[in-house]
Amino acid sequence: MTQKPCILCCAITGSVATKADNPAVPTSIQEQIESSHAAVEAGASIIHAHVRNDDQSPSSDPVKFAALKAGLENHCPGVIIQLSTGGRSGAGQARGGMLSLMPDMASLSVGSNNFPTRVYENPPELVDWLASEMKTYEVSPEIEAFDLSHILHAIDKHQKGQLFGNLYVQFVMGVKNAMPADKTVFDFYVALMAARAPKAEWCAAGIGANQLLVNEWAIAAGGHTRAGLEDNVRLDRKTLAPSNAALIARAAELCQKYDRPVATPAQARQILGLRGQSI
Ligand SMILES: [Zn+2]
Repeated sequence: MTQKPCILCCAITGSVATKADNPAVPTSIQEQIESSHAAVEAGASIIHAHVRNDDQSPSSDPVKFAALKAGLENHCPGVIIQLSTGGRSGAGQARGGMLSLMPDMASLSVGSNNFPTRVYENPPELVDWLASEMKTYEVSPEIEAFDLSHILHAIDKHQKGQLFGNLYVQFVMGVKNAMPADKTVFDFYVALMAARAPKAEWCAAGIGANQLLVNEWAIAAGGHTRAGLEDNVRLDRKTLAPSNAALIARAAELCQKYDRPVATPAQARQILGLRGQSI
């Protein structure tokens, strides 16, 4: 029996790493489009993106997001565009200012936790507002779970009809002082999803040196996974990753190892039940 295709998401540019960390981090819109194009050729079907100001600081400017979206639609036709509503690039409702652009997907954090040096604040009223904007504009959320409570809260919100489309949860593992990249914890989350949200899809991302490890866990366990320079700028302790595509290619090789076909963008749209698909 052919196994379920594996959706590879490329997190091309986050809010933290700069060219000082790795010159391959794409920070201008043009660089982001070129980097995405290569990542899609390597197997990515979702592009997860933040945008940056000219000085590389994070931005939530909808004009920049619109330029990135238009460029991706032009140069990577069909790829799933997932824009970040994460908290490092803006505050309050500014985090959702790009949702009216109707990207296919947007990330959504449903709870708060600590990051290494700050509180990652996701107050209930802001989470509810972001979720309702996503419903208005038919944007499928990818739930970013930094803790167990976020997974359970997302399942509850989905059951109450507060999230657009199908439930899709990402376990983000390896953020210092948040959720560890621990196999026992991972296995528990997979079992939890199967028990409480059997129709949902899930994926997993490992931060820093955990990226490849978590890629392999997710691919082996039948989930989907994410790689890219947002989460990790290295191939190993001594070697910087030359590109986003190199990190996606590594995940694609793991798919081969576990007999998982790499999902095309069209297959990924179907699996995730995005806008425009017959579910
Ligand atoms: Zn992100």
